[in-house]
Amino acid sequence: MDRIDGGVDQEVTDVRRKDGVAMPGDKLAVSEEFLPGANAYEKSGLVRALRVGTVHKDLVNMEISVKPSSQPASPKIDDWVTGQVEAVQANSANVHLYFLNGVPTHKDFSGMLNLRGMTGARGARRMTPVKSGDIVRCRVYSLTNGIIHLTIDEPDMGVTGALCGNCGRPLLRGNATRAKCDECGNVEERKLARDFGTAPIQP
Ligand SMILES: [Zn+2]
Repeated sequence: MDRIDGGVDQEVTDVRRKDGVAMPGDKLAVSEEFLPGANAYEKSGLVRALRVGTVHKDLVNMEISVKPSSQPASPKIDDWVTGQVEAVQANSANVHLYFLNGVPTHKDFSGMLNLRGMTGARGARRMTPVKSGDIVRCRVYSLTNGIIHLTIDEPDMGVTGALCGNCGRPLLRGNATRAKCDECGNVEERKLARDFGTAPIQP
């Protein structure tokens, strides 16, 4: 794991990638300057990184540490994701994704939720499957053209959290396609996930 030890008088830091990300073993500082903080260690007068992450300098305690970067996994087909509905069009909605298979993702992902067929064909009653601001759990069904295509057309998928359009309180009860506001009695239409109404909201 130890790389060629360049000595203190050579270039002090290996962290010159523009995003400030350190690799294990990278030189972070000379130990006269900084103490090793989290995920860093001191050896032969140098503070080095123990793992991959972003370098943080604490200038109060003169400590240098590495904040591990979560592996920025990309959604794959059949993964499930949870996010917030940002904009709803006639047949699709943009969803900002915060969880990938139940694990928080720090990468900025957006998906396109396909609502075709859910909003009703011509002549059929149109349904409001999702509204802007809803929390939705979706299945990834296609990655065509680099777009994360999502569907909520299965029982476990759908809205897991929503606010009342009338009074703004969280909707706490619902079944299948209807959620009722305990506060004002307003009934909202959504395509609800099977576990809608359980608290805390599951990603
Ligand atoms: Zn209400």
